[in-house]
Amino acid sequence: MNIFDMTIHELHTALKGKQISSVEATSAMLKRIEAVEPNVGSFITVTSEQALAAAEQADQLIAQGECDLLTGIPLAIKDIFLTKGVRTTCGSRILHNFIPPYSATSWEKLRDRGAVLLGKLNQDEFAMGSSNESSAYGITRNPWDTTCIPGGSSGGSAAAVAARQAIATLGTDTGGSIRQPASHCGCVGLKPTYGRVSRYGVIAYASSLDQVGPLTRDVADCAVMLGALAGHDPKDSTSVDTPVPDYSATLSQGVKGLRIGLPKEYFIDGLDPDVQKAMDAAIDTYRRLGAEFVDISLPHTDYAVATYYLIATAEASSNLARYDGVRFGHRAEADGLLEMYTKSRSEGFGSEVKRRIMLGTYALSSGYYDAYYLKAQKVRTMIMNDFIKAFASVDVILTPVAPTPAFKIGEKINDPLQMYLSDIFTIPVNLAGTCAMSLPAGFSASGLPIGLQLIGKPFDEESILRAGYAFEQATDWHTRKAAI
Ligand code: GLN
Repeated sequence: MNIFDMTIHELHTALKGKQISSVEATSAMLKRIEAVEPNVGSFITVTSEQALAAAEQADQLIAQGECDLLTGIPLAIKDIFLTKGVRTTCGSRILHNFIPPYSATSWEKLRDRGAVLLGKLNQDEFAMGSSNESSAYGITRNPWDTTCIPGGSSGGSAAAVAARQAIATLGTDTGGSIRQPASHCGCVGLKPTYGRVSRYGVIAYASSLDQVGPLTRDVADCAVMLGALAGHDPKDSTSVDTPVPDYSATLSQGVKGLRIGLPKEYFIDGLDPDVQKAMDAAIDTYRRLGAEFVDISLPHTDYAVATYYLIATAEASSNLARYDGVRFGHRAEADGLLEMYTKSRSEGFGSEVKRRIMLGTYALSSGYYDAYYLKAQKVRTMIMNDFIKAFASVDVILTPVAPTPAFKIGEKINDPLQMYLSDIFTIPVNLAGTCAMSLPAGFSASGLPIGLQLIGKPFDEESILRAGYAFEQATDWHTRKAAI
């Protein structure tokens, strides 16, 4: 078996048994990155030297008998995570020269357990997008069909897993940015409950929605990664101080008697027939495994996309005010302060980011605040209540991740509304603040992966992981590999 094809648990066994060293594994990954990168474009920065040095350190630990599950495992992370001493662009020209003085807690947690950083992954600029086409560092292609988008905004994170350029990756999810690319690239992606994982050192997009999570080859790896990431961080006041369960321990408990909700608002006419087929097959699989299905309603689903695009843009317009050319990032040549602000931001931001800053500023401006922003907050509460009511009668909710498989590069780039609609099934979860996972559930007629979404109760990642694991044991979708 190729090293680059391995899961975390497979490579861990090989490292622990000393069949492979971390330096060998890391070198194999770096070679693989070099070989496929021209066709995929998952990376913004490859950190070869640091990776090999970290691998050597991991090998020393292993030699001393200290082999944690993540020791020596080569990972890559979205370029939204601050990495001390390693350029961090967030996919934007405005941060082309930004070298952070400290690292994100989520990355530090993985590194402290011995993980090796291969590099920083491509993404939509400031995580705004669903196709990875808004990056200032080139597009990322879908490893299953390089004429298609990988999804976004964590497109590089999903493509790198699918193209086997990293054993697992980190992404962020504000409205679907982990789950939608995971679905389009045939990997597992989990957005934890708001507050489950620290966001310290993660460049902010929409602070009431952003969450950090893993993208992996299978559910067992996802449980390992979530266990490593989760937990309270005194440096992030939104991270919640509740105990972190052992996610791997309960994985194989099965789904007998599990009550799975099917929201009627998610199984709509416009759903792609291949997606519908995959959902029908998944429902059959779960029935065979002993789960019970309950028809439910999430009645305010229709308002989710509009609500999200008011709240997310409003928060983005405030968060992005810090890029002023003064403290860090790109600074334009100009006469005087005002012109310097204007020119730095005009040159530094791409068009989608500018669109969102304008939308958000408008929604927050006096006179419109009540009509747009405040109204959106009220509707958000109604959407949240939909989930609370539904979870009174079900344990998890099953839906598609996206209405269609990956679309063609360029297809929606000039039609923002169509682009925004591709997150219609993922956005409500962020508005409600709860957790959800995408996992491989089939392929379209043209060979593109289709993902299944399992939504859990707040802080009940255990149930969706357990349900995902049961599905994976009964199917082989997650073992298929993109021929790249
Ligand atoms: N596509 C959505 C947006 O553009 C979600 C992005 C995300 O989750 N970061 O806002």
